[in-house]
Amino acid sequence: MRCVAHRRDGAPEAVRGLLEWPVVPVPRPVRPLCPRTKAIPVSESSPTPAPVIDEATIGAAVDAALAAIAAAASTDELKQVRIQHVGDASVLSSANRAIKDLPKDQKAAAGKLVGQSKGRVQKELAARQQQLAAAEEEAALAAETVDVTLPTDLRPRGASHPLTVLQDRINDFFVGIGWEIAEGPEIESEWLNFDALNADAEHPSRSMQDTLYLAPEDSGMLLRTQTSPVQIRAMLERGAPLYVACPGTVYRADEIDATHSPMFHQVEGLAIGKDLTMANLVGTLDAFAAHIFGGAPITRLRPNHFPFTEPSAEMDFRCFRCEAREGLDHDADPNCRVCGGTGWIEMGGCGMVHPNVLRAAGVDPEEYQGFAFGLGIERILMLRNGVADMRDIVEGDVRFSQHYGTEI
Ligand SMILES: [Zn+2]
Repeated sequence: MRCVAHRRDGAPEAVRGLLEWPVVPVPRPVRPLCPRTKAIPVSESSPTPAPVIDEATIGAAVDAALAAIAAAASTDELKQVRIQHVGDASVLSSANRAIKDLPKDQKAAAGKLVGQSKGRVQKELAARQQQLAAAEEEAALAAETVDVTLPTDLRPRGASHPLTVLQDRINDFFVGIGWEIAEGPEIESEWLNFDALNADAEHPSRSMQDTLYLAPEDSGMLLRTQTSPVQIRAMLERGAPLYVACPGTVYRADEIDATHSPMFHQVEGLAIGKDLTMANLVGTLDAFAAHIFGGAPITRLRPNHFPFTEPSAEMDFRCFRCEAREGLDHDADPNCRVCGGTGWIEMGGCGMVHPNVLRAAGVDPEEYQGFAFGLGIERILMLRNGVADMRDIVEGDVRFSQHYGTEI
């Protein structure tokens, strides 16, 4: 049997011939087998009994095979049954091989008997294989079924901070109107933060009371007080025309209280092109207000002065909370907490970019004009969502983020 077992492992063709049962004893030369079969040389001195091809023997083999097929409980077991009962070493296969050596007048009957018997066993094998495979697949599907009614892991998921969500929404607006988003460093040079923006050496915002300078005192470096330096960087790098929104963190030497924080967020817009006027500025602000606050907002400009714009204006949005939102012919609610009864909300500064700023950034003011504006993101969040105290935004209480963080 070791010879047979080894043959299935792939013995050379020449060796296989020697391993077959001789039906008619024919003297064969004793040839060396492969190393593992040396111990049992096949020779006339160890004759292998020739298979008997009669109905009783073949019938018994078929019965044994059918019984084993019926008893197989899995496709793996059936595989072993197949090897045992119709494999190379099986009675049926051996008988099949022996047919060729039978006397001529017996070949047809033997062939029919063996062929039909083997066919019957193969048919049963195929049927049982199908049956067992189907059962196994069904069992696997049942085992993998997901019970959707089982309790789930209810650990709370994180959410973006409300400021981040709002900033994303603001960015979406500017990208939607074809502008680009520009960012820059928070540690900035004094030249980019003040000089390039036409703020003279005596400008009060340069004072140590407003600006956080980096040591040593004459380093010329500071924490940016506005995102305007990003506008200058964008103009220097990209030139005109240019349409950019610059969101980011800015710093001022303020104590934190309900309406102030030493660190807060701004978004500034800058448009540089030919034939731009204040009308383009107002149109952009109207569209921005509609996107952030909804409705059909009304924008108002009040004259003001900033070093980096000329003319300059404070921009007010019509209150989006009380009656005032309906239009200029509707009075504000005197108790409105958003507009304080005035009907208007102060939003920030804006204006046409000062020619000196354009020159500092390498843009010819004779050829190009532009407008710019700046908005505080915390202020928008407070107005829009009714956040009463700025400290709530920065304190990191998860209840605040849960309330405003997932959707604004
Ligand atoms: Zn109001």
